[in-house]
Amino acid sequence: MQPPSPPSRVAIIGGGPAGLMAAETLARGGVQVDLFDAMPSVGRKFLLAGRGGLNITHAEPFAAFIKRYGSREDVITPLLSTFGPAELRAWVEALGVSTFVGSSGRVFPEEMKAAPLLRAWLARLREAGVRFHVRHRWAGWNVDGHLRFTTL
Ligand SMILES: Cc1cc2nc3c(=O)[nH]c(=O)nc-3n(C[C@H](O)[C@H](O)[C@H](O)COP(=O)(O)OP(=O)(O)OC[C@H]3O[C@@H](n4cnc5c(N)ncnc54)[C@H](O)[C@@H]3O)c2cc1C
Repeated sequence: MQPPSPPSRVAIIGGGPAGLMAAETLARGGVQVDLFDAMPSVGRKFLLAGRGGLNITHAEPFAAFIKRYGSREDVITPLLSTFGPAELRAWVEALGVSTFVGSSGRVFPEEMKAAPLLRAWLARLREAGVRFHVRHRWAGWNVDGHLRFTTL
C-alpha cells in the first residue's frame, strides 16, 4: 500500500523550538508551512533560556542518557534513537554555532546564548519558504472548520 501523500500546506501554531522544528521537518518534506505565534516574535522563551547559559543536551553515553527519562524510557528510546543528543549537537553545528561539553557533561553553544542559534535557524527556515505570522493568537475553529485567529 502506498503511504499517504503529505498535505501540501500545514499551519503550525506556536513558534517555540517545538513549532520551529516541526516547520523545518515539514518544509524539508516539500510542505508549504505557515507558522503562527501570538507574540510579536517567535522563540521568546528559547531566548530567555539562553540568558543563564543555554544547555542543549548532555554528552553522557546514550544508555545512561536514556535512563533520565525514567518510566518514559520505552516511549522515548525510538525517538532519541532517530534524533538524539549527537544528532542535536550536529544540527546546532550545521547552523554555524560551535558547541562544547562543560565540566558537568552538559553541552552548550559556544557563546552559551540562544540568540545566534535562533537567528541562524530563522534565516534557514525563511530560505526554506516557511512563512511567519506573528501577533496571531489561535482562537480555535470557526463553524466551517477553519482556523480562527485574534490579531493584535
Ligand atoms: C529561564 C529558563 C531557562 C531555560 N533553560 C533551558 C536550557 O538551558 N535548555 C533547554 O533545553 N531548555 C531550557 N528551558 C526550557 C525551554 O525554553 C523550553 O523547554 C522550550 O522553550 C519549550 O519549547 P516549546 O516550543 O514547547 O514551547 P514555547 O517555547 O513555550 O513556545 C510556545 C509558543 O507558542 C505560542 N503560543 C501559545 N499559545 C498560542 C496560541 N493560542 N496562538 C498562537 N501562538 C501561541 C507562544 O507565544 C510561544 O511562542 C528554559 C526555560 C526557561 C524559562
